[in-house]
Amino acid sequence: MIDSDDLIKSQQAWLMTWLQRHQPTCRLRINNNRSTMLSMRAEKHGYVVSVHERLFGHPLAIHELPTWIASRGRKTSSLLRQALMDVFHDQRQQGGSKEQLKKERAVFPALSAPTQPLDLDGALDHVHSTWFGAISRPLVVWGRDPGARNLSSIRFGSYRRRPSPFITLHPRLRRTWVPWIFIEHVLFHELCHHRQFCEPIRGEAQHSVRFRSWERAYPQHQLANDWQRLYLEFILHGRPEIDERLTGPDLGA
Ligand SMILES: [Zn+2]
Repeated sequence: MIDSDDLIKSQQAWLMTWLQRHQPTCRLRINNNRSTMLSMRAEKHGYVVSVHERLFGHPLAIHELPTWIASRGRKTSSLLRQALMDVFHDQRQQGGSKEQLKKERAVFPALSAPTQPLDLDGALDHVHSTWFGAISRPLVVWGRDPGARNLSSIRFGSYRRRPSPFITLHPRLRRTWVPWIFIEHVLFHELCHHRQFCEPIRGEAQHSVRFRSWERAYPQHQLANDWQRLYLEFILHGRPEIDERLTGPDLGA
């Protein structure tokens, strides 16, 4: 998906002009909804066409809107449907519009990051002894480094029971700007899986009610989740202005 501001603006202008010329009783509304991203409803003197702001990053789909509008929202082409799906998934992945995330990041508290290179064993020792002292301590290792390429999704940590219990952490967590509480949170999550293994219940789901209640015991649970929602795109795609300045050759940039 291309989503430069210029493209979006030019597509919006194009649709506006088309409406004025061919459907003068239709009013365009640009939405930022999380579920209904395209809709058309009748009002007193015409219609309101509501289009998600991110759909304008899909020019081919935008050019199919005239047909969709002329059919009063009945004829949805497969291309338009696909673009709507893309916008939907993209938004879920990023947890809000770009603008919205930017605004939230601007007021988000500054969180301290561990000194690099991160002492992974020391970090696990800390989380284990603070909250999981009653059970054994698994091993912890870094996962395979995907290099600098863009990722479409990420698994921050994983837990394996065999051959002997161990936790793997994703190397993207070595970015110098990833806060300490986020690393702790991931280790805490994986240690909850280890606790399930140590205190088994037959047939229990991976992320059961019991698991979720343990996980919420981490004092910064909400803050860590909020950080993830706001900064995920930087972990997936990089945060150039910071990575270039701070990331050394041993950090897997
Ligand atoms: Zn899990």
